[in-house]
Amino acid sequence: MSQNRAAKSNIADPNDYENKLINIPGSIQPHGMLIALKDPELKIIKVSANTKEYLGIPADELLEKTLKSCLNIDRIEAIADFWQEKFASVNSLKIEILNSKKHKYFDATIHRTQQEIILELEPTLSLQESSFSSFYNLVRSTMAKIKKVSDLKEFIDSIAREIQKITNFDRVMIYQFDRTGAGEVVAEAKRSPLSSYLGLHYPPTDVPTPARKLYERNSIRYIPNMSCEFVKLIPNAAQSQPLDLSLSILRSADPCCVEYHQNMGAQSLLVVPLIKEQTLWGLISCQHQTPKYLPYQIRTVCEFVGKLVSLELVNKQTREELEYLVKLKSVRSESIEAIAKADNFKEALIDCPDYLLDLVSATGLAVCLGAEINLFGNTPTKQQVSSILDRADAWIKDSLFQTNSLTKLDPEAEAFKDSASGLLILRLSKARRYYILWFRPEVIQTVNWAGNPSESIEQQDDGFNLSPRKSFAKWQEIVKLSSLPWREWEIENALNFRNALVGIVIKKADQLAGVVEELKIRNEELDFFAYAASHDLKEPLRGISNYCTFLLEDYGSILDPKSKARLETSIQLGKRMETLIDTLFNFSQLGKAKLKLELTDLNKSLERVIEVFRASNRGVDFEIRILQPLPSVYCDPVLIEEVLTNIIANAFKYHNKPQKWVEIGSYVDYLGQDVIYIRDNGIGIRDRHLHTIFRLFKRLHPQKKYGGGTGAGLTIAKKIIERHGGKIWVESEYGEGSTFYLTIHSK
Ligand code: ADP
Repeated sequence: MSQNRAAKSNIADPNDYENKLINIPGSIQPHGMLIALKDPELKIIKVSANTKEYLGIPADELLEKTLKSCLNIDRIEAIADFWQEKFASVNSLKIEILNSKKHKYFDATIHRTQQEIILELEPTLSLQESSFSSFYNLVRSTMAKIKKVSDLKEFIDSIAREIQKITNFDRVMIYQFDRTGAGEVVAEAKRSPLSSYLGLHYPPTDVPTPARKLYERNSIRYIPNMSCEFVKLIPNAAQSQPLDLSLSILRSADPCCVEYHQNMGAQSLLVVPLIKEQTLWGLISCQHQTPKYLPYQIRTVCEFVGKLVSLELVNKQTREELEYLVKLKSVRSESIEAIAKADNFKEALIDCPDYLLDLVSATGLAVCLGAEINLFGNTPTKQQVSSILDRADAWIKDSLFQTNSLTKLDPEAEAFKDSASGLLILRLSKARRYYILWFRPEVIQTVNWAGNPSESIEQQDDGFNLSPRKSFAKWQEIVKLSSLPWREWEIENALNFRNALVGIVIKKADQLAGVVEELKIRNEELDFFAYAASHDLKEPLRGISNYCTFLLEDYGSILDPKSKARLETSIQLGKRMETLIDTLFNFSQLGKAKLKLELTDLNKSLERVIEVFRASNRGVDFEIRILQPLPSVYCDPVLIEEVLTNIIANAFKYHNKPQKWVEIGSYVDYLGQDVIYIRDNGIGIRDRHLHTIFRLFKRLHPQKKYGGGTGAGLTIAKKIIERHGGKIWVESEYGEGSTFYLTIHSK
């Protein structure tokens, strides 16, 4: 594997070498020469020191001259075109230079940097371009394989064999990188006496970031002789700007890269990067035990094959992957279908834990919706999940976080390694704190490294010394505290699932917006109805009452007692109907006025309510016990006092025992919210009526019994509490007493 690591440099932080500028080594390999040109006149501003060897002209004689004036070179206009930016990338052409009556032929490659044109020349025997048919012959069987084989493993095996055939290198390996940058040899073709590297792993430090970036930009890297002496560029960097050799084909190798490959037994190296969807997927790495010169045409064929393989990687999967992929996709569509059909998306999420587990092949699942945590399968405890969630946002990028070794981030996670060594988090909504967490248990694995990976960093007294590993003998590592890794498609499946969910939620939100609009219209109509009812209905009602009163006044003395009683009842009924209409109107207005929220000490509110209650119930024997102090909350104090008044009044009204008492207190529930309770020893409520008592005009007793009411008190109390974002409910034992609970949420 190729790598360019800071050679034997003493640096305090091992990550520093990640920033090393390996693209400006100031030298090239000796199998060719380099000329750097500037300006439209093509002035030579830098040149490799070996020009005498190839052209018979010493380098310093070329410097500062124009290309035309010092070399009898054909195709000069083609080179000049580069100055006009007619080509974006590296281009090649055949060049002839006539010098001292001798014709010299070169394979030339040209590319532009920010400042200059770089012309690299490698000697060749003739000007004759290789024919298309000879090129096609070399790639024909590779192209046939690409078409025929759909299984990834089979495909890369055949590519390794084809490249070995084309290059005749001792060993051709195909490396695949994982998400951490570590590589694995996934295919190999080699001469039989050599020991196999197939299945060996390489640490990410073997291909540090600068080398990775160069591989992403170059389609081939070729070092024919690791032991050669590199040729300096003149003038050197001390005298002028260093030359950016990122795209140079002759760029010299980093000393660390040389030592690394020599330790591996390689004297010659050819690397073809494989790019899948704009990222470095892996490398075709060819090694030879002795220096090996490959003609330019053969290297071009390898480059071409690398490009073909890169393009094909998206279409190839292993058979097992393919089957798994089909399964994952079907699980995803089934789960999404189930959720899309459901009325309540939150409930639907909790309702399909098996689908959710299968979505990424997890063994445990936590669906976290606000303060509510729902666990399925093998998971940490609710408390542990909640502590993971506290830190999740810092870890999550683009709605997702995944690790197969949570203890690396959080050593305390070792406590639940058996359920969650691997963690995949999907954030559905940050504002609402909606998350799905998937877990995988610890799986103790053995990884075969090519040599001890930690040997590439040596600790010394004054820091770290980065050096290539000496030994590539198989080195086994037992990996603990890690789960099986989350695979690319599992992560993709989770992300696609999230996108589909967002789509469903948006669709539901649109439907809801439609319903809200409809409701608004209906509400306005209802308001109008309530207004009309209260004003227009009361008018004739008053008329009826008045006429009954007149009849009583005028004819009361001559009416028989039965008719008189009927008239009196009519007047009573009229009054009652008026009260009902007023209540209905008040109730309809309750939702309209804005709440006047303020931080309210509920103990003070309660004191005021009790004081008024005592004043209006003088002479009645009752006891109010306050068991715990009440919290302070943001609420509309007038409305909340109305609620307390109603519940306390009911407690003493619906009573048939000589000793009347009410107990009031509060506690904090498991979600951390304050709950206020009001308990009485009254008549109690049958189970079947526990819900109905909150309905408008619902009374459980005849009007005259227990001092009767309109049956609207609890309906109004419920509406007030719900407008505060809270809940009201009742528990009761018939004949023993009832307890009303309420929460208030306003902020
Ligand atoms: P009302 O104005 O008739 O009291 P509410 O809405 O306040 O109406 O109560 C509805 C019904 O619930 C009452 O008619 C009563 O039957 C029942 N109820 C309310 N509070 C209690 C209680 N503390 N104990 C027993 N029954 C109750």
